[in-house]
Amino acid sequence: MTGINPDFLYENPANPRLAQRRLARTEATIVLLQTAVAAAYIAGAYTGLFDVSSPAREITSLWLWLYHVCVTVYSFQYRVRGRTVGWIEPLIPLLDISCVTSVYIALGDPVSPVWAAYLYALIGYSRRYGGIAFVAVSGYTITNLLIGWLAIGNPHPEQFFVMVVLALAVMALSYTISDSWREAEQRARFLAETDSLTALVNRRTFFERLEDSAQAPLSILMLDLDHFKHLNDEFGHIKGDEFLKAAARAIQLSIPASAIAGRFGGEEFIVGLPGVNAHQAAVIGESIRRAVAATTPTTVSVGCTAVRPLETIDQAIRRADELLYVAKRQGRDRVAGDTIERFAA
Ligand code: GH3
Ligand code: MG
Ligand code: MG
Repeated sequence: MTGINPDFLYENPANPRLAQRRLARTEATIVLLQTAVAAAYIAGAYTGLFDVSSPAREITSLWLWLYHVCVTVYSFQYRVRGRTVGWIEPLIPLLDISCVTSVYIALGDPVSPVWAAYLYALIGYSRRYGGIAFVAVSGYTITNLLIGWLAIGNPHPEQFFVMVVLALAVMALSYTISDSWREAEQRARFLAETDSLTALVNRRTFFERLEDSAQAPLSILMLDLDHFKHLNDEFGHIKGDEFLKAAARAIQLSIPASAIAGRFGGEEFIVGLPGVNAHQAAVIGESIRRAVAATTPTTVSVGCTAVRPLETIDQAIRRADELLYVAKRQGRDRVAGDTIERFAA
């Protein structure tokens, strides 16, 4: 007999505590890198590595290290502590790209591998945005480089073209890589969030989504298929799986678009209904009950309630579960709900 290895939970990439720790590590690395970049620019400017003899170069060098110092402070203050300032985040890649221009101006060498590597890393940012946003970020980058080129008055136009070709190549490469990253990310997220049999969200994702979209009134339906064990015994587990899928589809088709339906476990389902009061929820529960009876050889019992004032969602779920057992005791294939409307917000 094999027991569950407790380490499994710990190593599980879906483990939120582990994910949180990884994120903090990544953010700490960003802070370190930003600090290193800021230090390098300050050192470069003071040791004469960067030519700061023209006003344009002087200003851009100043901008470079000032910006990196600010981002370092910001990253440490907010990102590492898990709080981000919404409107600053999208600005960071744009500001970073203008730093690429600054590197270019400071170095005065448009074919330097330094800014190409820098650019490559920064374009990676746009993988978060994709599509049109990627084109916008790329266009913004080219414009920045053009401004940089004009600012230092480079007398060799062929160098500028080399730079643009290099930029386009880097962007194309980074687009391809980021595209496959995004796809892999989407696939991983889908697999982590979805129940593979019924295609409804799994239990953990159900609670996450419910927290995100909770609004008063909020109703909960707990559902359990009736005598499903007998159905398995009679038709076999493969057929049983098909009935489960059909029941999930019947649930999904009977609820409003704003509702969240999840597989709670086995032949049990849960539906969260934001913006729906207890009375409306009972009507939805009834239409699910009819749809399941019409499209599967089984029936469903439903417990229905709304979250009451000063009550947590968990308490309402527990009550919905108790009501589900009331429905079972009363003979199954029915909806048992709070009939007292005063509780509905
Ligand atoms: P009740 O009306 O009291 O809910 O009776 P029940 O038979 O549905 O309840 P019970 O909890 O005794 O049995 C649930 C059954 O659901 C047992 C289990 O084999 C079946 N089941 C759970 N998950 C799956 C699944 O993924 N596929 C199949 N085919 N059956 C499942
Ligand atoms: Mg059950
Ligand atoms: Mg059951």
